[in-house]
Amino acid sequence: MKVTGQKAKTGKDGADRVMRKKMLVANWKMYKTRVEAAEFMQHFLQETVVQHAVEIVICAPFTALADLAALLEKNGLQLGAQNMYWLDEGAFTGEISPLMLKEVGVKYVLIGHSERRRYFDEEEALIRKKVAAALAHGLNPILCVGENEEQRNAGQTEKVIQEQLWGALAGLDVKNELGEKIVLAYEPVWAIGTGTPARGEDAGAVAGLIRSLLREKGRGLAEKVRILYGGSVQAENITDFTAQNEIDGALVGGSSLKAPSFAALLKAVLEERGA
Ligand code: PEP
Repeated sequence: MKVTGQKAKTGKDGADRVMRKKMLVANWKMYKTRVEAAEFMQHFLQETVVQHAVEIVICAPFTALADLAALLEKNGLQLGAQNMYWLDEGAFTGEISPLMLKEVGVKYVLIGHSERRRYFDEEEALIRKKVAAALAHGLNPILCVGENEEQRNAGQTEKVIQEQLWGALAGLDVKNELGEKIVLAYEPVWAIGTGTPARGEDAGAVAGLIRSLLREKGRGLAEKVRILYGGSVQAENITDFTAQNEIDGALVGGSSLKAPSFAALLKAVLEERGA
């Protein structure tokens, strides 16, 4: 299965418009043993007709990755990891390398998730190295950015997003082709796991800001990059986000943990798209 399924369409003005394929990314965090991961997949695949209109990525714990790889591939789903180190190998106890992820069939890797920034002190310099390493190894980074509550209340959302984005991409040879490889996830920290999502229009506006910032690096890049929203997404609200022009899908924590609720998210997106 092609990574993005993006197609160019020529609009009335003659400009190339890129059809960005919608994405639904499950972030299981530190949940699910191998047995639980297998049970989830069994139920999810029973409940769902996987359609290629939406690309589904399961970011599982490291221990479940190898088990899931063949099953996901057979069913047209993509395998993702939640983190990685940026070097190929070395004396870095407890870390995992891009090569190790590739070996077990990982295609996507979350980088800079707010829980990594907050609990493991990940900062821009490290995140930048991870993004570069993922790309160098043919892994697709899902780069997470987002302001916390304090920053939001201080009206600093735009500034924080810009700093995180440029911090992560600094020094990278940002060519238009990268638009098909890098995925951005706008995840306001105050919305993650709180049951209080952002408003669809507000998230759409931040996604628009991210795309306009990326235009500074290249128009082709900006139009191709998929921008997801994450933060308390549920079946009842997912289309508030996916209906926004600039939002191409969702990164989902809590609602991805149970097969019926994750299947309900997919169903909502497919119905919205008339698929
Ligand atoms: C996340 O972990 O990236 C996330 C968005 O979590 P939740 O959906 O639970 O808010």
